[in-house]
Amino acid sequence: MFRCWRTLSITGAWLVVAAYAGPATAASTAPAPARSAATADATSIAIVLARVQALQARNPAAALQAGLPAWQAGPPQGARIELGLHLIAAADAQQQPAQAVAIGARLLPAALTPTQRLRLLWHLCESMWATRDLARVRALEPQITALGSQLPGQAQAIAELWRKLSSSYLMLDDTRDALRTARIALATAPRHPSMVDYWANQLIAVVYVKSDELPKAIAALQAADRAGKALGLPDRVSLMLNFNALYMYAKNWPKAIEYGQRAMAAGPDPAQQVAILANVGGAYQELGDFPRAGATYAHALRIARAHQLPAPSLLNNMADLLQKQNQPAQALPLLQQAAREFERAGSTSEAATAYSNIGAALAGLGQHAAAERAYAKSLALFTAADDVQRRLELYPRMVDNLAALGRYRDALSVMRAYKKLHDVHVTVQSNTQMAKLEAVIELERRNAELAQAQREHDRQQAALVRAKALEQRQLLTTEAMLAALLLLAAVAALSIRQSRVRKCLNQSLAMKNAEIETQYRDLTRLHDTISRQSEEDALTGLRNRRYGQAWLERLAAAHLEARRKGSPLMPALVMLLDIDHFKKVNDRHGHEAGDHALKHFAGILRECSRQSDVLVRWGGEEFLWACPGTPISEAQHLFARVRERLQQTPLILRGDRVSLTVSMGFSLFPLWPEATGDWAFCLRMADTALYRAKTSGRDRWTGLIAGKLAQAMDHGRCAREDSVDELEARGCLTALAESV
Ligand code: GH3
Ligand code: MG
Ligand code: MG
Repeated sequence: MFRCWRTLSITGAWLVVAAYAGPATAASTAPAPARSAATADATSIAIVLARVQALQARNPAAALQAGLPAWQAGPPQGARIELGLHLIAAADAQQQPAQAVAIGARLLPAALTPTQRLRLLWHLCESMWATRDLARVRALEPQITALGSQLPGQAQAIAELWRKLSSSYLMLDDTRDALRTARIALATAPRHPSMVDYWANQLIAVVYVKSDELPKAIAALQAADRAGKALGLPDRVSLMLNFNALYMYAKNWPKAIEYGQRAMAAGPDPAQQVAILANVGGAYQELGDFPRAGATYAHALRIARAHQLPAPSLLNNMADLLQKQNQPAQALPLLQQAAREFERAGSTSEAATAYSNIGAALAGLGQHAAAERAYAKSLALFTAADDVQRRLELYPRMVDNLAALGRYRDALSVMRAYKKLHDVHVTVQSNTQMAKLEAVIELERRNAELAQAQREHDRQQAALVRAKALEQRQLLTTEAMLAALLLLAAVAALSIRQSRVRKCLNQSLAMKNAEIETQYRDLTRLHDTISRQSEEDALTGLRNRRYGQAWLERLAAAHLEARRKGSPLMPALVMLLDIDHFKKVNDRHGHEAGDHALKHFAGILRECSRQSDVLVRWGGEEFLWACPGTPISEAQHLFARVRERLQQTPLILRGDRVSLTVSMGFSLFPLWPEATGDWAFCLRMADTALYRAKTSGRDRWTGLIAGKLAQAMDHGRCAREDSVDELEARGCLTALAESV
């Protein structure tokens, strides 16, 4: 998690390898010349030269100051050539490559002896990078080659020239030419081991590090180390530090520790000590030796504090160790200090890393909102530093944190930014994570929909249960439907419960839920259709007999209940209507025409009835018309209305006008209080009345209502099982008939 910081120390260490330590100082910053150059002549050049030679070894700056006016006063000829060569050496010793190049550029075209040219190139090869011009570095190669053939006895020096040129290439980041010329240097050197082996191999190691070829880099560094030992050189801090950093980079922790200790023994300055100890502590940490890691870090921190050195990398490492020991609360202040120090030092990318680590520590403490702020800061800094790689490392942390906050949508958009940033870097894992997030979001939406569906279902279920209590004789299919719905409800409830546990479930669950919902809707629709069809007559669209019976039962129950409460309801008028001689219609015009006639008649009944009436196709061409709370006197008016409509809108069948008539028998429900629950008795009366209307000539109405006895409440003598004639004779019933 915190791996990236260690490259800091490596980068810092590798810079030491570069041939020139410290920045170039411009020649113009040198103090003004003491004497006018114009006055210099050959004699005075000899004097100046002597002075420069005297000063050169112990005070090159003074040598430069003393020699430059005479050097600049005339063309590089004669004694002035020698002066120039001494001055370039002084500039080199002063680590002023720009000055060295300025002097060397004037000497290059001059008429030099091969030995003088060797001295010139000695300084120029190593300084030429200061021009930042690769072409000028390259232009030195033919000069070295030519010199090689002019001075065959100086092969070792020529090899040094190649090595120095190689470092110029490296300074300009031209690793290919650096490697090539370093190899030429090794091949040219007649003696091994020599300083060429020592330096060229270090250079080669740097090139390999830059191209991430760690084994080759280590091999080169070891070759340099072997040469150094063979030449009796003491351990150099820079080489040991590079070894240490390289082994850190290669994750060879024991070796990193070994070279760290050698670097410490080689007498590093305090800043180097802090860097070395930070690495060594890191290596111990990686080996799982946390106590030693902690002690080493503490040692480094003491040195940093004693010399007032900022040590943000070290603080970062210490925080990392605490994090590894599950102490995020202790790690947090160190990280915050590291972030501040990095920011103060202008190390934007490192500050961004520290903020990213702060975010991780806060997330570890469960402070996800604060973690998000730290991550946002980190992202802004990485963006400012244009550090794509680190940003790519940061995004997954942000995504996890947002997911922990339950902000899946934001997490997904960060994930998309991640993908957009670098498609090449998007791994299968990130794609999977994105798909998971999409699934979670989809699942949340589905859950909300399911919960809604569940509420809706509960409501429907309650309605169904109520309806079921009244419609006890529902068809088997309807019951099966209900069972299926209950099963579906159970499945839906189960998926809701499970969905909490299956947060990371993929889309297949969401699809399954959708499938269930579709099935649920289909089944509900099917149920509606079936229950409607089960109550409806397919031909006329009126209610069917099953509905009629159930309705009469409900009516009877309501009357009973009202009577029990002492507030009886108004009776209902119950009429049975039968088309006269309907058989003839069929016979004459065919069955289809008969169907048409039935629909026609049903339409007329609809027109003549009220909203509160119930119209039922009782059977064949016989219809039940029930009007709750309607007095018996209404029967004749209703019949008259139907008759009138039949006459006004005659039925036309294949061009023939067919006049229909209808007969009607009616009764009241209940006929008397004792008969309140018995709707069948009422229907028997209406049916008998209908029969009488038929037998007395058709196209008329007849009614059977409570007789005087029944009205006098003498029910004891009115047994409903008795025949109509007997009841009529006894005065329990009275017949009404249309006067024709
Ligand atoms: P009445 O006046 O005595 O009622 O004589 P009717 O011919 O109407 O009565 P009957 O009971 O003798 O005949 C009824 C006919 O109704 C017989 C049957 O074929 C016909 N019928 C019953 N249902 C349907 C139907 O759905 N469509 C058609 N086209 N005819 C039907
Ligand atoms: Mg009939
Ligand atoms: Mg009939």
